[in-house]
Amino acid sequence: MVDSQEFDSELHRTALAQLDRVAARLHLDPDIHERLRFPRRALVVSVPIRMDAGRTQVFIGYRVHHNTALGPTKGGLRYHEDVNLGEVTALAMLMTWKCGLMELPYGGAKGGVRCNPRELSRAELEHLTRRYTAEIILLIGPDHDIPAPDLGTDEQTMAWMMDTYSMTQGKSVPGVVTGKPLIIGGSAGRREATGRGIVYVLYQAARHLGHELRGRKVVVQGFGNVGSVAARLLWRDGCVITGVSDFGGGVWNPAGLDIRQLEAHVAESGSVAGFPGADPLTNADLLEQPCDILVPAAVGSQIREDNAERIKASVVVEGANGPTTPEADALLHDRGVTVIPDVLANAGGVVVSYFEWVQGLQYYFWKESEITSRLQEIMARAFNRVWALARKEGVDLRTAALMEGVRRVAEGHRVRGLYP
Ligand code: GLU
Repeated sequence: MVDSQEFDSELHRTALAQLDRVAARLHLDPDIHERLRFPRRALVVSVPIRMDAGRTQVFIGYRVHHNTALGPTKGGLRYHEDVNLGEVTALAMLMTWKCGLMELPYGGAKGGVRCNPRELSRAELEHLTRRYTAEIILLIGPDHDIPAPDLGTDEQTMAWMMDTYSMTQGKSVPGVVTGKPLIIGGSAGRREATGRGIVYVLYQAARHLGHELRGRKVVVQGFGNVGSVAARLLWRDGCVITGVSDFGGGVWNPAGLDIRQLEAHVAESGSVAGFPGADPLTNADLLEQPCDILVPAAVGSQIREDNAERIKASVVVEGANGPTTPEADALLHDRGVTVIPDVLANAGGVVVSYFEWVQGLQYYFWKESEITSRLQEIMARAFNRVWALARKEGVDLRTAALMEGVRRVAEGHRVRGLYP
């Protein structure tokens, strides 16, 4: 097979190895397998912006479409210092499997700008977002490629993207992004969707494992769009949230943290660090604290070969994309730890993005209760399909989830054939 060296990165090597393994299990047509190993297209752009201090600085941005067999492409935009072409390409591939698994009519995409958004002012962030949008404008559109928030971006970022795109079209085009504010066509429940999806898959996992969720000790790494919502909902459901962390460090209290008070502290200080009534600890130590459920909901590659043996949780729910390396995955599997993989566990975000897109196309908006009940149904159905396949094939949940996702995309390729 030709090497896709342009896209090389640790995460991309992992994504390719996963695909190759799953393709062998599925006895995939080798011609379709070959096509799935490559992104459909990838764009690298420079994003010059005038900084507040007066100087011009250039940032590097990417947008990658991995696959379009099942429909237009969908996937988030991340602002992070580690963003590179290989990582964005791998994340776009993961989006393809995620959309396939969740039976959404989309292929996978991802975008990113290499920057530290915490070091940029609001004006600089706006300029960065608008110029990046202008640079990738040929690749996006409501029936072409629809960005959404990811690490380091939020609904304000989406509002700027939507406005920039709309200005070039001479009309408002809300459907070009999802995860935008409600007032300009966002969906009720989109902001909470990923965290909510995590809780819904945990309900199903608890049912299959014969556990009660109430009273379980939970550690959440990351207190952003995903982790804070998962922590709040699990706390409300009677779980004991013993530890939480973010970029500023972690806080730990074996008797449980009051998540409402913690949210108030974060609103005031910007970080969970320094929360009174809890002991400080590092992000690395947090992962190894005794607990029943661990939710890595921050950046990738957090559970690795060198700390996997010390993870005490019996269930790991991947809120982030790619938080567990393959070596760590194998070690956790050998120890009987249930890992609910990213493509399933964090799919609530893209599912409600799909709802937002559909509502926008129909100019008809649903109540939040309709959104949450449909989300719960879709998450439960996907979990149960994956669980049953894992049992039938004697594989872990990640392999089963990827088999489901890859199989659907491959079937799309098979019926469409190869152009010309
Ligand atoms: N960034 C999220 C993800 O990784 C959501 C993508 C979307 O809603 O399009 O799944």
